[in-house]
Amino acid sequence: MKLAAERQQIVDYGLRLLQAGLTTGSGGNLSCLCREQELIAIGPSGIAYTDVRPEDVVIVDRQGRRVEGRYQPSSELGFHLALYDRRPDIAAVVHTHSVYATTLACLHWELPAVHYLVGYSGDRVPLAPYATFGTAELARAVADSIGGYNAVLLANHGLVAVGTQLERAFNVAEEIEFVARLYYQCRCAGTPVLVAEDEMARVLERFKSYGQPTLPSA
Ligand code: 13P
Ligand code: ZN
Repeated sequence: MKLAAERQQIVDYGLRLLQAGLTTGSGGNLSCLCREQELIAIGPSGIAYTDVRPEDVVIVDRQGRRVEGRYQPSSELGFHLALYDRRPDIAAVVHTHSVYATTLACLHWELPAVHYLVGYSGDRVPLAPYATFGTAELARAVADSIGGYNAVLLANHGLVAVGTQLERAFNVAEEIEFVARLYYQCRCAGTPVLVAEDEMARVLERFKSYGQPTLPSA
């Protein structure tokens, strides 16, 4: 079986999405790219995370052709492929319907720098225009909207987070959901005071050396 370690990660991080309350049932999806082999491991479409086993993960090439696996890949394969094409710096994509990020996305709001942890994405989280799930139009909208950010809200749909590995993309999804919740709550209570632009620039600089110098390879 190809990409055994990556298959296991897709299973593990799918379960972590559930545990963290970032998704329910089979909502959302995740993938990782092995750049040496030019192959992508992506979850099967429409199967509950609790039921997905490593052999159920689908392996596709960079064009989306199925190389291994009996199931159909995630219906959002298109935006996963488009993001890997657009962003040579990433190797993992996590898509969620987490409640607060999706709330903002339904309001067609971007997420501004209400808290410094928005830095997991950049100085904000941009918003991609609405397009039907699973379409080439949505894939284009996501790839065109993400720019150099690590997260993008999908209008009336959810959130996409990217990273150099699944652990990082998962962390982005988790932290951005936290900041989205803060922003929503602040907007309910009053007018949030945003972190200034020059301060966010300092935060992003500090993020480059935050934590341990190298993550243990997952
Ligand atoms: P899949 O089950 O096909 O991955 O779809 C879930 C989803 O979130 C569609 O946007
Ligand atoms: Zn979705």
